[in-house]
Amino acid sequence: PRKGERVLEVSGLTRRFGGLVANKDMALRVDAGEILAVIGPNGAGKSTLFNLLSCVDTPNAGEIVFLGERINGYSPRKVARAGLSRTFQHVKLLPRMTVLENVAIGAHQRGHRGVFASALRLDGTEEARLLAEARRQLERVGLGEYLHHEAGSLALGQQRILEIARALCADPCLLLLDEPAAGLRHKEKQALAELLRKLRAEGMAVLLVEHDMDFVMGLVDRVVVMEFGQRIAEGLPEEVQRNPAVLEAYLGG
Ligand code: ADP
Ligand code: MG
Repeated sequence: PRKGERVLEVSGLTRRFGGLVANKDMALRVDAGEILAVIGPNGAGKSTLFNLLSCVDTPNAGEIVFLGERINGYSPRKVARAGLSRTFQHVKLLPRMTVLENVAIGAHQRGHRGVFASALRLDGTEEARLLAEARRQLERVGLGEYLHHEAGSLALGQQRILEIARALCADPCLLLLDEPAAGLRHKEKQALAELLRKLRAEGMAVLLVEHDMDFVMGLVDRVVVMEFGQRIAEGLPEEVQRNPAVLEAYLGG
């Protein structure tokens, strides 16, 4: 998709867990070349939303339209192949394997279970292709000099960027990032923000869940605020920041 074209459009999205409505009539859109943040207090339904969008979970109602195609009921693997790629809140690395191997294996097993089982079934050509792709993505995110380092030896900020390199291997046009800045030092946040700006400039659509307000405010184009499973506000970061309902949700408790 070209910059400004609609990548994702969600409407009426509802997910119930027994009597609890974790997402109620959620709606949002993301365009190519845009970074959208979803914020909200703990329990607001952000992770549920991500699971629904990446087809890890199934909504009770609503539509998820990705690149003009309704993706409700797709498998996570099929969604990843269609160009929607995600990272998880907690970094899932194989610490004793190299950075390059981590990305190559991650690329192969997107949507699979059982990392090693699938890695062992690779033939030589497939392995070479995955390693080349992994190298290309690691260079793209600025980790080219760490290819042969053990993944566990990287700083947390670099591990997060490694996760993004993994997600990029599926050649996505939409990245879903779950709290990418959590626990990072100031310098690491700056490096991450710089990478996301670069991806945005290349036309990537990015949707991120984040608690770190400073990170969000300096970076994203638009913010959607959730509380109790619902969208309570949407707008530019500055607008949302002084919205009374948003302040109430965060401070009012
Ligand atoms: P957030 O990510 O914004 O902190 P979640 O999406 O994780 O919020 O959770 C939203 C609500 O849904 C919470 O009340 C949570 O306890 C509930 N919830 C999430 N997943 C499940 C589940 N699998 N079973 C039951 N309740 C769940
Ligand atoms: Mg969560």
